[in-house]
Amino acid sequence: MSISKQAFDRHDHSACVVSALDAAELLCARHGARLTGRRRRVLELVWRSHQAVKAYDLLAQMAREDPSVKPPTVYRALDFLIAQGLVHRIESLNAFVGCVRPGQAHHEQFLICDDCGTVQEVEVPEVGRSLTKAATSAGFQADHQTIEVHGRCDTCCQPASRR
Ligand SMILES: [Zn+2]
Ligand SMILES: [Zn+2]
Ligand SMILES: [Zn+2]
Repeated sequence: MSISKQAFDRHDHSACVVSALDAAELLCARHGARLTGRRRRVLELVWRSHQAVKAYDLLAQMAREDPSVKPPTVYRALDFLIAQGLVHRIESLNAFVGCVRPGQAHHEQFLICDDCGTVQEVEVPEVGRSLTKAATSAGFQADHQTIEVHGRCDTCCQPASRR
């Protein structure tokens, strides 16, 4: 089982942003949901990097661009993006990241670097299945699970001179 680690590697991030926005347009069209300019902009800001972003940072950026933007505007946009499966909330950070596989059913599993804040979404389905199975045999009906693994990415483990 290999784990994608793109978020932790140097890469052309503009390609990530383009494909995330394209996928969002497609998915919203398929769901008959409206990706308004503001919702799209919030998604774009969430995707500015692979680091989890706080709602108040999004708000500050949005308000710089348009002073009429108020907190509920940003929270509602985030709720919409989460409901559409385009954004995940990282519970342990109370922050947000873009989903790397929107439109595909998957468990929420994340590797989180505590130094740089980079979050890599991973897919280890057997872990999800094992947990669901264990829950069932414990007499518990699991309907949602989020796994957040904290640690440090390769870049942050290297001595500063090699970064
Ligand atoms: Zn990227
Ligand atoms: Zn996801
Ligand atoms: Zn890091």
